[in-house]
Amino acid sequence: MQDIKIIKAKTVQEKPDPINLGFGKYHTDYMFTMDYSEGKGWHNYQIQPYNGIVLDPGCIVLHYAQETFEGLKAYRTDDGRILLFRPDMHAKRFNKSNIRLCMPQVPENDFIELVRRMVLFEQDWIPKEDKTALYVRPFMFGVEEAIGARPSKDYKFVILLSPVGNYFQSGFNPLKIYVEDAYSRTAKGGIGSAKTGGNYAASIFTQDMAKKKGYSQVMWLDSVEHKYVEEVGAMNVMFKINGEIITPPLSDTILAGVTRDTCITILKSWGLNVVERKISMDELISASEEGILEEVFGTGTGVVIAPIGELCYKEKILTIGGGNTGSLTQRLYDYLCALQRGKVEDNYNWTWEIK
Ligand SMILES: *Cc1c(COP(=O)(O)O)cnc(C)c1O
Repeated sequence: MQDIKIIKAKTVQEKPDPINLGFGKYHTDYMFTMDYSEGKGWHNYQIQPYNGIVLDPGCIVLHYAQETFEGLKAYRTDDGRILLFRPDMHAKRFNKSNIRLCMPQVPENDFIELVRRMVLFEQDWIPKEDKTALYVRPFMFGVEEAIGARPSKDYKFVILLSPVGNYFQSGFNPLKIYVEDAYSRTAKGGIGSAKTGGNYAASIFTQDMAKKKGYSQVMWLDSVEHKYVEEVGAMNVMFKINGEIITPPLSDTILAGVTRDTCITILKSWGLNVVERKISMDELISASEEGILEEVFGTGTGVVIAPIGELCYKEKILTIGGGNTGSLTQRLYDYLCALQRGKVEDNYNWTWEIK
């Protein structure tokens, strides 16, 4: 990997109140950037003051959305160490997304090393309080000027850092979810399994409609029959039905969440039966009527675990666990938070200490 040039800022910001960080409200003083051009590869590695980026108005990303991103977290342990959670899996997924979007690879080790360098550079920004972290947002986009739809020849890769608290304003409280039965986030053969801004462009209209109806997120169904559950907003989703955990299987319409994989492994280690299979709204309604739809929760790096207390589907309301957080959901959340902060033993080498 090339040397990183460090450009110092003239001034630095005051750190925000760690109690009210919210999510994505703050950025640290510096960002990492590097450039790619055909024939030359990656070059111009820089840690520089957080600032605007100059783009050609005709550049590919602004017209054709050729962009990919990742989201991971760095944690400060009680004894002051710094931990990244499963950065290798994020690096792999980033490159999978890059293949799907016809974009260059960032070698896995370089991705991890750049995240490490950037987090260490800004380590004063890692909040220490419980339920907080430093969110790391690496992303890449096509910068070549070309008003014509084709892959860009030039790219920029950036890492931003943001100290975060709870993803939802409501904190760790059951969410009300709107089940969308007409619009789709993605389609079979589409880019749903790539982490790319385009999937969000496809979803914001419905997301906005759900918000106006008083729901915080949208649950997406398959785009063919609008029958089978896929994801919830920017989360994977799991159901506890009659003691068993069911989650939709990975496909080209579902993002392979790192938290999803983590939760499946933990739940299995607790002796639970975890089944990856298609699950329809009809099945959820029957389970709810029979009183065996015990718990529903979303999983994602941003939220960690989000309990779901209500699903609204075609004017029908399914209340889960009386609208309260289920005991397994709570246990999983507590355990995962503890694991990510190095408070319980990590038997899986998921937490990477960086120094
Ligand atoms: C990022 C993301 C997730 C969650 O993935 P994690 O790796 O667990 O953070 C789920 N769904 C979508 C659409 C996403 O973009």
